[in-house]
Amino acid sequence: MAGEVFSNLITSVNPKVMNSGSRQGIKIDRIILHHNATTNKDVAMNTWVQGGAAGTSAHYEITPTEIIGCVGEQYAAWHAGGTGPADPPRIANPNYRSIGIENVNSSGTPNWSLDPRTITNCARLVADICKRYNIPCDRQHVLGHNEVTATACPGGMNVDEVVRQAKQFLNGSAPTPSKPTPAPTPQAKKNGIAIDNVSKDQATKIVQRVQTNYAWTLLRDKVKAVKQKDGRYTLSIRTGRGKRQEQTRARLSQELKSYYPGYIQSNVALVNGDKDSATLEARNMPASAFNGKNPFDVHMRNFLKDILLDGQTYAEANAYGTYDVRIKGEGFNDHDAAIVLKQIQDLGKAKDLKIDSTHIKGFKY
Ligand SMILES: [Zn+2]
Repeated sequence: MAGEVFSNLITSVNPKVMNSGSRQGIKIDRIILHHNATTNKDVAMNTWVQGGAAGTSAHYEITPTEIIGCVGEQYAAWHAGGTGPADPPRIANPNYRSIGIENVNSSGTPNWSLDPRTITNCARLVADICKRYNIPCDRQHVLGHNEVTATACPGGMNVDEVVRQAKQFLNGSAPTPSKPTPAPTPQAKKNGIAIDNVSKDQATKIVQRVQTNYAWTLLRDKVKAVKQKDGRYTLSIRTGRGKRQEQTRARLSQELKSYYPGYIQSNVALVNGDKDSATLEARNMPASAFNGKNPFDVHMRNFLKDILLDGQTYAEANAYGTYDVRIKGEGFNDHDAAIVLKQIQDLGKAKDLKIDSTHIKGFKY
């Protein structure tokens, strides 16, 4: 739009026409900070273009080296309005009264980190906006998106640090370089693969292909035969809670009855339950069940595939109207993970998929 008002700090203007509207006469008195939820600034900004599916936008996009003007400050951008009646914003008219600043991530899920230079560029812009609109530079007026509506945004961004540096810019003292926010200590270190920003069709197809190609690898550690001291075996099945566990137990019981009619079913025990997993053990099984041509663990791995893979490889809609795929590989060790990543990048190259391999990355969870 012509005559758009931007900070003098901008390094460029994105020429695309983005979603925006009138401020309804409401004065600007808040700055709301966001993370892109992607490491690709263009993917983020393209979702703000008028006519796109997401219907969102922001005034600025920040990267480690840029401050990009997207929606003129005199207009409202659609960045903090909440998702509907069940998610009322905690301040009135959040979009009409605020300037929304989006920041590109330096890493994807689960940490969604930001480069320290992005934080400093954001702080520089926050200071400039506070000065021009006479907005107090404090945590009541500079807010993270999640302080306005229920959201995981701004990801790994430390809003306190942005305000601290912005105050230093306003005082005329150069900010001390911010230390990168230490990544939260991971609870567990399992290997997964993330495919971000693909279409629904691409997401559906790749999920099906991954499940077909990697069922065995994904399930390897979930269904195991463990030799007991007395030479007999325990079949160990890591399953979920609730319905998944009931279904697993029912199928196990059915198969034990048909293949090992003499097996005493009270030897099946539920152990090691936690919040979302539990292990079923069929103890004291004959060694012959696992040493023959059709080992029972392999049989059960196949027979339980659909139940056990549910929630392991899936697609979910993201905030930008595209889809993200998560492949949580219980069975990928550190060595396998790199190989499987390469294989999945190759799978994505199929003619009917054409998923850019830079959108396919490994992650720990
Ligand atoms: Zn946000």
